[in-house]
Amino acid sequence: MTELGKLPGVGNRTAQRLAFHLLRTSAEDANALAAAIRDVKEKIGLCEVCFNLAEGPRCRICLDERRDPSLICVVEEPGDVIPVERTHEFRGLYHVLGGALSPIDGVDPEDLKIAELYRRVTAAAEQDEPVAEVVLATNPTTTGEATALHIAAGLRERAPEVQVTRLASGLPVGADLEYADEVTLGKALAGRRTL
Ligand SMILES: [Zn+2]
Repeated sequence: MTELGKLPGVGNRTAQRLAFHLLRTSAEDANALAAAIRDVKEKIGLCEVCFNLAEGPRCRICLDERRDPSLICVVEEPGDVIPVERTHEFRGLYHVLGGALSPIDGVDPEDLKIAELYRRVTAAAEQDEPVAEVVLATNPTTTGEATALHIAAGLRERAPEVQVTRLASGLPVGADLEYADEVTLGKALAGRRTL
C-alpha cells in the first residue's frame, strides 16, 4: 500500500483502490504486472543518441530509417516525445534534455544533455549529414523559455548554419507540453518560427 502511494499522481485513496483491485485479481495477472514492473527496471534505459527511453542502446525512433536525421526536436522529458509524435507533424529525430534550466533549483546547463546536443550537431556536420533545423520544443514556462534561449545562443555560436526554431505561440503559457492537445501542438509545430 505505501509503495503504491509513492507512485506519481497516486494519493491514499487511489492506493487503496489499487490494493483492492490487486486483491481481486488472479495470481496470474498480478504476477504479470510484477514482471512488467521488473522488466521496466531491467530493460529500459536511455537512448545513447537522443536520451529518450529505450529498450537497448537506441530508442525505436533513432532506429527508424524513415525518420529525417536533419531535423532534431529538443524536448525536456521523455514524456514530451509522445504528444509531439501524436501530432504526426514531425518526422525528424529527438533530443531529450532531462529537464529545464532552473538556477534556483540548482539545475545548470551541465545537469542537462545540452553539451550532448551540441556534440551531436557538430558531429553530424563533420560526417557530412548536417542537421538543417533544431526545433526547440521545451515547455512554454519560464524555465522552458530560458532553456530554449540558452540553447539557441549556444547553437548560433557552434553551428551558425543550423536553423533554430521555436514552437509558435498558442500553447497555453505555463503549461506542460505533456498536457497539450494534439491539434494545438500540431499547429504550434507547423507555425514554428526562427529564433
Ligand atoms: Zn533515440
